[in-house]
Amino acid sequence: MQENNLSLAEFENCQKCNICAEVCPMMEVNPLYPGPKQAGPDGERYRLKDPAFFDNALKYCLNCKRCEVACPSGVKIGDIIAINKLKYYKSEHKLRDAALASTDFVGSLASPFAPIVNGVLSLGVTKSLMDGVLGVSKQRTFPKYSSRKFTAWLRRHAQEQMAFPRQVSYFHGCYVNYNYPQLGKDFVKVMNACGYGVRLLEKERCCGVALIANAMGEQARKQAEVNLASIRKAGGPVLTTSSTCTFTIRDEYAHVLGLENSDVRSSVMLASRWLYRLVEEGSVKLVFKEDYSRKLAYQTACHMQKMGWQQYSIQLLKMIPGVQLTVLEQRCCGISGTYGFKKENYEYSQKVGAPLFEDIRNAGVDAVVSDCETCKWQIEASTGLPVFNPISILAEALDLEKTRAANP
Ligand code: SF4
Ligand code: SF4
Repeated sequence: MQENNLSLAEFENCQKCNICAEVCPMMEVNPLYPGPKQAGPDGERYRLKDPAFFDNALKYCLNCKRCEVACPSGVKIGDIIAINKLKYYKSEHKLRDAALASTDFVGSLASPFAPIVNGVLSLGVTKSLMDGVLGVSKQRTFPKYSSRKFTAWLRRHAQEQMAFPRQVSYFHGCYVNYNYPQLGKDFVKVMNACGYGVRLLEKERCCGVALIANAMGEQARKQAEVNLASIRKAGGPVLTTSSTCTFTIRDEYAHVLGLENSDVRSSVMLASRWLYRLVEEGSVKLVFKEDYSRKLAYQTACHMQKMGWQQYSIQLLKMIPGVQLTVLEQRCCGISGTYGFKKENYEYSQKVGAPLFEDIRNAGVDAVVSDCETCKWQIEASTGLPVFNPISILAEALDLEKTRAANP
């Protein structure tokens, strides 16, 4: 593990311009939150003198990193806050936070009994109980669990995937595995049409984003180490369909958890970025259905903006002849993974997302496209419109047989 001294090295670059405060979505809606400058570089000066200066109100940070994107001095404000939360944050809802953050554990327990678990979780009485006893907002509905895990499905198709001339590895993430295998199947469809088989990593654990957000650093590091070892072993591109898993593995592992990942960082990337580059250089050809038609709005998730990768998804969507695409102004949806499920955060979460929801309602589209699964939950719950990953739109719009023939 490398020594994590990012906050020490970089907070001194702050010029006190306050630009970060202008873009922080939480500061705008929550008077209890001190804001990025105070929570980040200013607070760091005090915390270095005495950790007792840690303010538990840092829990309100969404880790959206919009402050870092805006900061002209390159201060890693979000990282400073996240590192300090890992060190000092004391949760008042330890059981709830552990349950929300342990996505692999809970997903493995829930998946075999999915119809019962889904039914029980959607009951009003269960929601009220979870709200009163655990502190999970009764306004939220958990994403449904799938009875069959994506990994089980792909293992059944392993032989046919190995018959392709080339293979890519897939970091599917918890949401695809336990809740929405359809996105994983769409990814396999698109890759197969382009002439690539899909294989699983030797071992995959939750990327750990929810553990980091809930200040469970040790568990996050253990899971990250398993993932990094598997990514190293894969020895080629490891593709993803979740912007947050991607960002966590590429950036948070090193910056927040202090793990060495520089040898594999560049091999982990979103499928849309990988595919766009191959199409651009002419190594992959996409053939679309002639009768496909959809009005879509693309939402840039905060971690997509931080990586600067939204253009890959947007350009792929623009290649589809029957798509009318509206690119929405970049705004935070407010859910930030497990954050918006917490009773004390629900109202702030909805206030942060309100301008985005209004943009979507005014866009006159049939569906929204996002690279982030938790933005999907928030937008679907708050606007009633369906949200798809760009890879699912490609799987729907491609003439799979003709694309396969064009990519021998
Ligand atoms: S934007 Fe950067 S330089 Fe300006 S106050 Fe915030 S941290 Fe300091
Ligand atoms: S990460 Fe987001 S919520 Fe946290 S301080 Fe920065 S802009 Fe504000």
